[in-house]
Amino acid sequence: MPKVRVRFAPSPSGYLHVGNARTALFNWLFARHEGGANILRIEDTDAERSKPEYERQLIRDLRWFGIDWDEGPDKGGPFAPYRQSERREIYQQHTAKLIEQGDAYYCFCTAAQLEAEREEALKAGRQPRYSGRCRKIPAEEAARRKSAGEPAAVRLKIVESSFFWNDRVHGPTNISGEIVGDPILVRSEGLPAYNFAAVVDDHLMEITHVIRGDDHISNTPRQLALYRAFGWQAPEFAHLSTILGPDRTRLSKRHGATSMESFREMGILPEALRNYLALLGWSPSDGKTEILNAEELIKQFSLDHITKSPAVFDTDKLNWLNRHYMKECPPRRLAELTVPFLQAAGLVNPAPGPEVLAWIERVLDAVLKNVSLLSEVPGAARVVFDYDAQQALATPEFQELITSQAAREVLMAFIPTAIAESTLTYERFREITKAVQKSTGKKGKDLFHPIRMALTGAASGPELEKLIPIYEEGAKLPLPKHVKSVAERLREFEAAAGF
Ligand code: GLU
Repeated sequence: MPKVRVRFAPSPSGYLHVGNARTALFNWLFARHEGGANILRIEDTDAERSKPEYERQLIRDLRWFGIDWDEGPDKGGPFAPYRQSERREIYQQHTAKLIEQGDAYYCFCTAAQLEAEREEALKAGRQPRYSGRCRKIPAEEAARRKSAGEPAAVRLKIVESSFFWNDRVHGPTNISGEIVGDPILVRSEGLPAYNFAAVVDDHLMEITHVIRGDDHISNTPRQLALYRAFGWQAPEFAHLSTILGPDRTRLSKRHGATSMESFREMGILPEALRNYLALLGWSPSDGKTEILNAEELIKQFSLDHITKSPAVFDTDKLNWLNRHYMKECPPRRLAELTVPFLQAAGLVNPAPGPEVLAWIERVLDAVLKNVSLLSEVPGAARVVFDYDAQQALATPEFQELITSQAAREVLMAFIPTAIAESTLTYERFREITKAVQKSTGKKGKDLFHPIRMALTGAASGPELEKLIPIYEEGAKLPLPKHVKSVAERLREFEAAAGF
């Protein structure tokens, strides 16, 4: 058995989106599971649509996603170059070979002619396909016209009446040769077409398995015809099902976030997205485990457990996995990942030092329960950053609070003692509240509810045990937006409430 070699072959004509990312992931998982090689090939023959910045972004997105490759444009490798725009000569040599063999021919049809043929077929209710008109031009005449400068594409002669392959996802697949017209291999402007460049490269790069989206199923017969014409052995094919939105139409921007960039900007962790996308069309052999880290995914991945039915993208499940991975994430890394979000909200400065990072860890520990995405952290951290006693007191619940005799009693006992501490520790807080309990006879909710409201400016929120040190430490840190200390909060409250 030859060593497994797979490739992810994106065209750098847009951002990496969910469908392509899943293709990249399945290739990577398969390569790593089999101890094979994963190759990144950039399919940039379409010079108009391909842009170097898209390639850079693709590579950045793949790295963020946590996928690596053994050979690629940025790494080199035994079959370099890995960018199709740098392989023009190779394609030319292979075109010449097919023409010489009589398996390919020059096609002089103009765009207008082809369009007229197409319309005629559609009118007659036939599926449009190239008539094969230029096949009949004798080879010498075609060569003469070509060297005289007449624009010509190169087409492959399809001779098979049917195509067959055993797809690793769809099983035995038959496609009638009748619907496959002679495909263009090289356009008249000299650009190799996708089917041609992909087959030449897959062969030369010794690809053993082609794992890609099922939108390419219709290309597979043309590619098989090319393998036959060259006398090469075709790789195995695995066509992954389409990803659908909740309304069961093909997933697109209309459905919300679909690009890697948008997931990163929402604050999805790469490991959550990896886990989630791995389950879009694949399941582990027990059919039920849902939480699998990269190591487990690699261990369990197999082409045999990929379903051919379309997979429906489920944002709730992705968010659920994200919550899981946020909880699992080492606190320092999570804090670092959160910094850009806090920074964008003007809550921390760029490149925060270790003290600020340690404090962000505490904030995350307090608010994580209430968030599914890192982008939700600044909102959830309002309990830390936003304190405005006057505003709070304008609300009916605070009005009720300060007009309650019982609450006033608690607060009048609590506030002066708490303010007297230069830094309130949670231990001192416990002692003070115990004393207030004794002197006022209030306990439980009657005791803690007014205190929470005065301290946090809200009726509910994270545990005071977590918030108090966050307030006290935060007040001393160099943050662009000052965090009010316990004493500052209580003084403000006293003044606003007119105690
Ligand atoms: N460049 C093609 C695409 O992005 C690759 C298809 C294939 O994997 O053969 O769809």
